[in-house]
Formats: sequence, structure tokens, C-alpha cells
Amino acid sequence: MEKIRVRFAPSPTGKLHVGGARTALFNWLWARHTGGTFVLRIEDTDTERSTQASVDQIISSLSWLGLDWDEGPKIGGEYGPYFQSQRLHHYEEKAQELIDKGAAYLCYCTPEELEAERERARRQGRAPGYTGRCRNLTEKDRVQLAAAGREPVVRLRVPAEGETVVDDLIRGRVVFKNNILDDFVILKSNGMPTYNYACVIDDHAMNITHIMRAEEHLSNTPRQILLYEALGYELPRFAHVPMILAPDRSKLSKRHGATSVEEFRHRGYLSKALVNFLSLLGWSPEGTDEIMPLDRIVAEFSLDRIAKTAAVFDVKKLTWMNGNYIRELPLAEIVTEVLPFMQKHGFIGAEATPAELELLTKSVKLTRDRAKTLEELVDVVSYFFSAEFQFEEKGVQKHFASAGAAVILETVKNLVSSVTSFDQQALEELYRARAKELGLKPAQLIHPTRLALSGRTIGPGLFELMELLGRDQCLVRLERALKFVQDELPAQLAAAEKGTE
Ligand code: GLU
Ligand code: ZN
Repeated sequence: MEKIRVRFAPSPTGKLHVGGARTALFNWLWARHTGGTFVLRIEDTDTERSTQASVDQIISSLSWLGLDWDEGPKIGGEYGPYFQSQRLHHYEEKAQELIDKGAAYLCYCTPEELEAERERARRQGRAPGYTGRCRNLTEKDRVQLAAAGREPVVRLRVPAEGETVVDDLIRGRVVFKNNILDDFVILKSNGMPTYNYACVIDDHAMNITHIMRAEEHLSNTPRQILLYEALGYELPRFAHVPMILAPDRSKLSKRHGATSVEEFRHRGYLSKALVNFLSLLGWSPEGTDEIMPLDRIVAEFSLDRIAKTAAVFDVKKLTWMNGNYIRELPLAEIVTEVLPFMQKHGFIGAEATPAELELLTKSVKLTRDRAKTLEELVDVVSYFFSAEFQFEEKGVQKHFASAGAAVILETVKNLVSSVTSFDQQALEELYRARAKELGLKPAQLIHPTRLALSGRTIGPGLFELMELLGRDQCLVRLERALKFVQDELPAQLAAAEKGTE
């Protein structure tokens, strides 16, 4: 069987976008599914817009997603170099061959002349493509133009008649009339290749068997096919994956929120969840399961289950999936994932102590059901690490503002100091017993306690929370709440009263 070779070929002109990540992922999945090779090639011939920072960014995002390449930057490979800017001689050589064969020619038109031509075409209601002015220059013309200081580009001679057919594995047969494809530039006057040209030279040189890329490249494909033909190369298979739209069915853009992989990472999405989510943008497994571990996705991935219709990027669904992963992955893994976020927010120092790690593990275990992102997880465990929280406003109104609040907090304090063994069960029993003695419902003790200990009105089971905080910390916090209720709150309430008068 033929060995599959696929590639991801980003232009380093910005961060890795989720659309690019989806393309990379599909190629990677196809390589891993078939036991083939996944190549990473950096298309950096646009010297104005390409940056090293973007290269680094793309590499770090791919690595974070776990999309490892078999050939490419950092690791090399037998078809390198994998940066187009280091392959310029290939493009020049092949362009010369095409010129020698008469399949390409030098064009000396200046930008102004080309603009004037386009303008004329517009006025006459014709398509604004290049008209082929330099197609039949004589040697003498060329010498003269060169002597006048004109720097030529190289254009491919495109047949005026006939059609070029893209036989796409996903979209089927797509036919393009050649008369809409003008003699396009393959080498610019500065010697740099254009995208369509460099892409063909490299895909052939690197023995790529399947070209899987975004649908927006479908219109480039007939030009590339003409190049394959002119060069006498065998065609690879093409597979154009469907577009990704925002939920309002417009093009996904910044105004819909995060669009780069890095942003999702910083907002506390797990790479496993993002990969799972991206795998379903245009591909679907046979079953109905959506949450799928990567090895299952690899096993089930196939090109014939890639859709033609656009996929919708629904962040709500991604967030739901992420919550699912936060709940279900091994606890130690989530702790490792959330640790840098805890450090970023200053709840844990740069060097986490064993005690901090233990507290983090236990508090994550208690609360992870309540978080859909790692940022949310930081929020729901934060009060285990710091008592410097504010009491939630609506909780204060409900549980601290009544006349009996201080008495209740005193009662709880006594209870906390007197309970013999400080564990959930003993605490729960004592709470119930004390409530009964006082003619209260247990909730009348529980709610104020939770607010005093965590600043919040909702959270994990109170007795588990208390056990984890420990007796001393509970007493400190109850004392703080009591002070607040006795010393600060009356003044606040009086001020509020005045304000509404
Ligand atoms: N450099 C192109 C891009 O980033 C590659 C397209 C392709 O895969 O052929 O869009
Ligand atoms: Zn010309």
C-alpha cells in the first residue's frame, strides 16, 4: 500500500487560528490513522508579513495541542529544509525549466501598466485578468525592456480554452473554465515565488500524497493543477475541508471572541477538549458519542466522513466539552493543568510546596464539577488558598443582615471549637443536633457558615469544605465574619438606608 504523506503548511503571519488548527488536526489524524507521515512546512515567502514570532507561536500551539510532526522545523527530515525561504533555488530552477519549455514566460509589465489594463477591462466590462501582453515578446523586445531597467516576473502560460477539473475527495468533481484563469505570476520580480507555485513545487518535492486544506483554497487548486501539468508531475489527491462559521453563520472572526489557539489556552481550555471539539468541526464519527478520547478519534477518522457543509464553531459547546474533561480526567492531570493558573493568580508561589499541592488536589476534587474552564476552577478553589475574599453581596443580605446573625455565628464558632473530631461526619451530626436544640433548621446554621468560610452562597458540601479547611482556619474565618457583622455591616446598612431615603 502507498504510504500516505500529508502536510500542514501555515504562513507565519499571525497566531495559529482555530481554523488552521483544525486543518492541521485533520492532516495529523489522517497520517496517524493510516500510519503515514505528517509534515510541517512553513510558507514564509511573504517576507513583509512573515515573522519569527509567528513561527514560534504556531510551533508552540501545535505542540500544545499534541500535533507532533514527523518532518519539519526543529527536527528536519529527508525532504528538508521545511521553510520555503530556504528553498528559493528550487523555485528558480523549476521556473527556468518552465521558461525553457515555453510553458512560462517573462513579463515586464509595470504595476502601472497592469493597473491601466485592469481599468480598461473594467470599462469594457471584461474580467480584469492579465491579457498576455508579454506572451510573445521576441528576444529583442526582452533585451530592450531589460536594458530599460525593467525587472520581469515569470508567468505561467495558461491555455485560453478548455477546463481544469479538480477531483476532490470531499467535494467531488469541480470544474473550472480555463478562460477565467489568466496567465498568473509564479515568480515575482524579487525572485520570490507566489503561493500557488511554491506550494506545488514543494508538495511534489516532498512527495505529498494528499493535500487536505481549507475550502477557501479550492479556487487556487485549478491553477496548481495547471502547474502540475506544466511541470509533468503526477497529481496528488485533493481534499478541501469545509469552512468554519460562527453560530450566526458569518465568517468566524475576532468579534465572536477568541479565535487563536493561544487565547483558548490562556482562558483555561484543555488541549484535549479543544482537539476533541476541533475534530468534530466537519468530521463526524459513526456513533453518537461526542466526547471521544484521541486514540478513538485516530482509530475512527476517515476522509469519507468529512462533510461538505460548513461547520459551526460554537464556543458554548466547546466550553461544555471542556467542563466534561475537567470533571472526568484523572485528578492528578487536572491539578497539573490548573497549577500554572493558580500561580498566575498568585494563590500559589512559583515553587509549589507539597502542602499547597495537597490542598490543591483536595480542593480540586471537591469543586471540579463546578468549573468549565481552568480559570473557573481557580475561582472555585480560590478561597481554600486565601481568606481575603469579599462576602458575596446577596449572601450578606440574606444571611448576615438579620438581627440574629451574630448569635448564629457565635453558635457556630462554639460548635467548631467544641467538636471532638474535626471531620465531616462529626460536624454534620453536631450541626443537626445543635439546630434541633435551638429550634432552627440545619440550613439556618449552614448558610451563614458557608458565607463566613468561603464568602459565597454556593459551593461543595459544607462539611467537606470545613474538613478540608481545618478547625483553625474555620475559626479564623468565623471570627472575621463575626467582626464584619458586628463592626462593619451596621455602618454599611445605615449608609445604604440613608442613600435610599
Ligand atoms: N500557506 C497556505 C496557507 O496558510 C497553505 C495553503 C495550503 O495548504 O496549500 O493558507
Ligand atoms: Zn507583461
